[in-house]
This record gives sequence, structure tokens and C-alpha cells, in this order.
Amino acid sequence: MTCQNTFNDRPREACGVFGIHNHPEAARLTYFGLYALQHRGQESAGIAVVRDRRIAFHKGMGLVADVFSDDRLELLKGECSAIGHVRYSTTGDSVVANAQPFVIHYSGKSYGVAHNGNLVNAHILKKELEESGSIFQTTTDSEIFLHLFVKNLKNGLESALVNAVTRIEGAYSFVLLTSRGEVVGIKDPHGFRPLCLGRCLANDRYVLASESCALDLVQAEFIRELEPGEIVIISDDGVKSIFPQKSVCPSACIFELIYFARPDSRIFGKNVYLTRKAHGRQLAKEAPVDADLVMPFPDSGNYAAIGYAAESGIPFDLGMIRNHYVGRTFIQPTQSMRDFSVRMKLNPVKELLKGKDIIIIEDSIIRGTTAKTRVKALRELGVKKVHMRISCPPHRFPCHYGIDFSTKGELIAATKSVDALRDHLGLDSLYYLSLEGMLAATGVAQPENNFCKACFDGCYPVGFDDIVSKTCLE
Ligand code: SF4
Repeated sequence: MTCQNTFNDRPREACGVFGIHNHPEAARLTYFGLYALQHRGQESAGIAVVRDRRIAFHKGMGLVADVFSDDRLELLKGECSAIGHVRYSTTGDSVVANAQPFVIHYSGKSYGVAHNGNLVNAHILKKELEESGSIFQTTTDSEIFLHLFVKNLKNGLESALVNAVTRIEGAYSFVLLTSRGEVVGIKDPHGFRPLCLGRCLANDRYVLASESCALDLVQAEFIRELEPGEIVIISDDGVKSIFPQKSVCPSACIFELIYFARPDSRIFGKNVYLTRKAHGRQLAKEAPVDADLVMPFPDSGNYAAIGYAAESGIPFDLGMIRNHYVGRTFIQPTQSMRDFSVRMKLNPVKELLKGKDIIIIEDSIIRGTTAKTRVKALRELGVKKVHMRISCPPHRFPCHYGIDFSTKGELIAATKSVDALRDHLGLDSLYYLSLEGMLAATGVAQPENNFCKACFDGCYPVGFDDIVSKTCLE
């Protein structure tokens, strides 16, 4: 019997998007781009291409490699434009109908869209659209964008885009494909989610991707990130940029730098690896403690742990070994095999850790169940002292902009003080990086004016329902 992998005591990202204009290997490069973005969503994957002024697509549930075979890609091949998407659902069900890109046919033309983020006024817009006769095929907020978009198409592509983006609110990075072969990139005026523009080194064709690691894989040079509120239209005439909305209080998701984005990516002007290392250094300055070694819970804590060790002078070691071959499903263990899924993924190196005082570096504690099990396992094998340092402040508030902790009840730090959490996890000491320290270590000028940090301080840059609007909850 198999069961779903239950290693999900970790926050999950909404999605990753990719687009390429007029390339002889458009579908194949989109496949590789999605492969590089797989960490942003593992529930479904899809690619849409333009063929004979119609959009053909394939999408399905699972990883990119599961959804696309060589034969599938052959069916999508040709010199054309393409967009792609990997999804983890934060709105709508995890079913193939909600997989993206969404493709629609309207007035003899086709359009496809792929979305990363969350629209906070989706329920209001959907009600309004349904009352005026719109019929929805999916339960996601992303489809709302297309309904708004087509309403103004009679006035041209640009006008339709402007009409749609001025109605939606929240976090969105879209790529859009038209049956004329245009590829469009759109970033919300707060710039919550990353989206960058690149150019293929071999033939100068333009590429859009959630993260620069996807550009590297398809051998495209990084040109720049889209600005908050920018729309980039890529056509045979080149790249056109418009700013239909005034930029309002930039609010890049700082948790992308701490946890979500790949460490080899450059987002929000910073290399992710180096930023995580700087957070680890800052943590060592704020919360020094004597110990024999510093170790991460791999892989997410690796980079901050390297920074902590470098700053503190305490040796870095890999005291937990990750099984890289754990799949999405596995044979269900017997009742007696407690904590099976946690142990299956990470196993401690007993001979290294026994009798030692250790510092564990983690990038976050969301529900706390996995951390508790791992600390218990370390105690059982004879570790003397277990200190934990977290490379961001406590998550006390839900995220409404595309990350999957959307209620306070899912966040253990919302209900327990740091001391209570230390005892709950069975630690000798626990320290979270300060908000000021986290912001300063990014190296971004005036970081308090450039990042969203609402899950830490409750100050939401965009209101998320009819009652709460741009406010602090504390
Ligand atoms: S609330 Fe937290 S996770 Fe959500 S966008 Fe803001 S910083 Fe990112």
C-alpha cells in the first residue's frame, strides 16, 4: 500500500512560471525552465505553445518529469513562443482542471496564462463576474485575470492588460501567451513575487522566469528583474515595457530570500545563497553560544549554518544526512514505526554527534512537528546539549500572498512564546533572528521600505478581506 508523503511540515510556495518568445526549441526550453523551478511547485505542471495561430497545451498532475515525456514534447515542438507553469495550490483544489497554463479562445484568438501569487480580492471579482454572466472552469483565482482581460480586448492587447491589472489586488507574477506569439510578463505594483527577464545567448530570444536559476539552465543571460507594477510585452518588434499603475510601497516577499527561492538564484537584487549566509552571520552575532559544532537540518538550513559557523568560529558539520531519493509516495510503515516519515528523510550521524553540544540552524519553524521529532532523535542518541537558532523572526501571522500558511492556527509561534516553544521542542536554548537583523543582513538599502514581512510583524501591505485593509494586526 502506498500513501502520500507526509514530509510537509514546511511552508510551500504557490508556483513558478516561465515564458520564451519565438524560439526553435520553445517547448523543450520551457520544459527545462520548469525543471529548474520545480522547487516552487510539485503538484502539477503544464506547457502551452503557439501553433498556426492557435495555442496547443499539455498539463497534468505531478512533477515536470512525470507530466512530460519526450513524445509529449515532440507534439509541442516548433519555432514558436511558449509559457509554462509548476503549481502548488494555495487557492483552488489540487486537481488537473486547476493546473496551468489556462488557455481560452475568444473572438477567434487564443490566450494562455500562468500565475504565481494570490489575488486577495478574488472573491469579490468572481462574484461580480459571475453576476455579469462569466462561467468559470476552475476554482483558482488565476482564471479571474483572464475573464477581466478579455472584457477589454476589443481595444487591443495593451488596453486589455491594463484593464485587468487595475482591477486585481494582491500578489501576482503572470506570464501570458497570445496566439500571435506575444509573450507578456506582469508583476504586481508591490512586487511580491520574483520575475526576471533574460536573453538566450545563442539567438537573442527573450525569456521570462520566476527565478534566474531557470535562465542559467537554458543558457540565457540575466538582463533584469521586472519592476513592481511593470508589464513587459515581448513581440517580433522587441521588448516593450509599460507601467499602468503607480508603484506603491514595494513589498518583495522576504521569505523568498530566507526559504523559497533556490540558493543559486538572484532575486530582488540579491544572490539568495549569500543572503542566507549573511543571515547566519547576523544570527551568530545576536545569539552566540558555546558548542562543539554547528549543523543545519539539510538542506534548507545549510546556508545560514555556513554563515553562523564562519562568524562564530565553531566548526560546521553535517550531522544529519538527507536521503535524496525519497519519492512522493512510499510503502506505508507499520503502526509501531513511529515518526517514520521524518526519519526516512534525515538520519543523524551517531558517531559524530554522541556526547556533543550542538547548534542547529533552521530557516523557520512553522508547525514545529518535524523539529520536535528530530530533536528527540538527537537526544536519544546521546547529544548533550541541543541549541537551535532560526534565521528569521517567529512566524506569528498568516500569509495571504501565496504561501500556504494562511491561518494563525498553523503557526506554532502564534500561540507559544519563544521560551514555551524551546521547552516544547526539548531544546536547551532557542533564538530567532531579530526583525531588524534579518532586514539589515539583506544588504538592501532601506529594507523596511522594500520588503513584505507581514508574517513576522502583522503589517500587511495589501488588505486581504473586506475588513482588514493595509494595516498592522498588533
Ligand atoms: S506574509 Fe511573509 S511569506 Fe507572505 S508575502 Fe509577506 S513575507 Fe512573504
